[in-house]
Amino acid sequence: MLQAARQMLQDVYGYPKFRTGQENMIETILSGRDALGIMPTGGGKSICYQIPALLLPGTTIVISPLISLMKDQVDALATLGISAAYINSSLTGSETMQRLRSAANGEYKLLYVAPERLETDSFRSLLEVMPVPLLAIDEAHCVSQWGHDFRTSYTAIAPLLRQFPKRPVVAAFTATATEEVKKDMVRLLELRDPGVTITGFDRENLTLSVLRGVNKRDYVVQYVRDHPEEAGIIYASTRKDVDELSAFLQKQGVAAGKYHAGLTDDERQQCQDGFLRDDIRVMVATNAFGMGIDKSNVRYVLHYNMPKNMEAYYQEAGRAGRDGEPGTCVLLFSPQDIQTQKFLIEQSVSSPERKTADYKKLQAMADYCHTQQCLRSAILRYFGELDADSHCGNCSSCNDDSELVDVTVEAQKVFSCIKRMSERFGATLVSQVLKGSRNKRIAEFGFERLPTYGVMSNYTEKAISDLIHSFVAEGYLALSEGQYPVVSLQQPAGAVLRGQAQVMRKLPKRKQVVSGGDEL
Ligand code: ADP
Ligand code: ZN
Repeated sequence: MLQAARQMLQDVYGYPKFRTGQENMIETILSGRDALGIMPTGGGKSICYQIPALLLPGTTIVISPLISLMKDQVDALATLGISAAYINSSLTGSETMQRLRSAANGEYKLLYVAPERLETDSFRSLLEVMPVPLLAIDEAHCVSQWGHDFRTSYTAIAPLLRQFPKRPVVAAFTATATEEVKKDMVRLLELRDPGVTITGFDRENLTLSVLRGVNKRDYVVQYVRDHPEEAGIIYASTRKDVDELSAFLQKQGVAAGKYHAGLTDDERQQCQDGFLRDDIRVMVATNAFGMGIDKSNVRYVLHYNMPKNMEAYYQEAGRAGRDGEPGTCVLLFSPQDIQTQKFLIEQSVSSPERKTADYKKLQAMADYCHTQQCLRSAILRYFGELDADSHCGNCSSCNDDSELVDVTVEAQKVFSCIKRMSERFGATLVSQVLKGSRNKRIAEFGFERLPTYGVMSNYTEKAISDLIHSFVAEGYLALSEGQYPVVSLQQPAGAVLRGQAQVMRKLPKRKQVVSGGDEL
């Protein structure tokens, strides 16, 4: 069977060999066992269910949340000579009926449906007559409240499974690998002892960068101008930023489109189509854009703001370079981004446990923005693929030509100040005390009498606060969860305070001039 699968890969798709994970996934499915595939965006999951669909008798059902994706997939399959169809709300009643009839006649190898469709009577009757060997579930994390795209309609999948005259093999796919989501997928989709395939999250062709303290708009405009032939996506947190930035780029003569939930379906569809056709070169969007966008020649993804967590970031950034050619991912960080995300968590109607979990993920994201270690290894560690730190040579940390400077004395001042303030305050107040600022809160607590008051007066408050955040990212300090996080000392800080360990930090050798004369 596996031999037949390999043959199919070459004959139908024209690819010489499987990518990591694909073979394992296909083997699991063909052996009749449920499968759970955790693969990064662009990892090549479609082939994992399409090839079994071609090899198994009957019609494979693919549940997918996005209408645009279904059409693209079906069109792509048609060019390969594979008969497939989709049923979703974009069809008229009679088109739907027609397709249901054709499906009942066994005319399709693959049938793509939106999860909402599962609850309709006409679809349920179809299942009584159409043999279904395999049910593939795309974006399977949508079934979990812990995921970042919970969709109620996904909860209809398990009841549906119980209705099949003969239960199909179930293959669930996602790019989200956290434990809670994994457990939820198995439980809520009622997977039976699934074979789990986790494939490399490493995307070697992506150059990862985090830039702190740049003028974001100047940077974006300059980047777009410097890459006039390339397609790119710019993600921003708010609709307002998307509107402004896209208008600004258009004024500069850039073919920029925009995408966010505040636009009409038509407007969104138009921009998306334009982007796929390369009429629109740069897409400025909120995170509403992208799930299921199969555009392989996106050369860069710039993040105008820090996203809410690493899962979201890597999924969005991963839309660059899906064709395997080099891709550039730049995250433009400013401390305000953390405030924005905290605000969003506070505003949400989530349970207290959920909020705590969200804060924890946000902290990991903030740590990524502050770390001086290899960014690729930071990501791989986060997704549980790597234990130790390493050096990829292709990220802004590894390529950083700045000097390693001994900041042990600064670290001791910071740690000692936090200790003297009884580990009960946030980074801002600690920075103000070290700076020697005068304000009401400092006076109220009598902090101007601390021996650490003003011992870092030669630094700006912002520089001290940056330093504190980098100590958090490196594990010397911890920030509590919640809207007003408190800094506390972690075990490694003890050795530093006792003079038993050194702290090194990278500092720019020379001032780097970024676009428009802004200096880093
Ligand atoms: P995703 O996991 O995001 O759904 P896709 O299935 O769309 O990814 O695959 C991403 C790209 O990789 C597609 O252009 C696909 O044709 C290509 N691809 C998938 N498998 C292989 C392979 N074995 N060899 C070469 N290219 C592949
Ligand atoms: Zn690196």
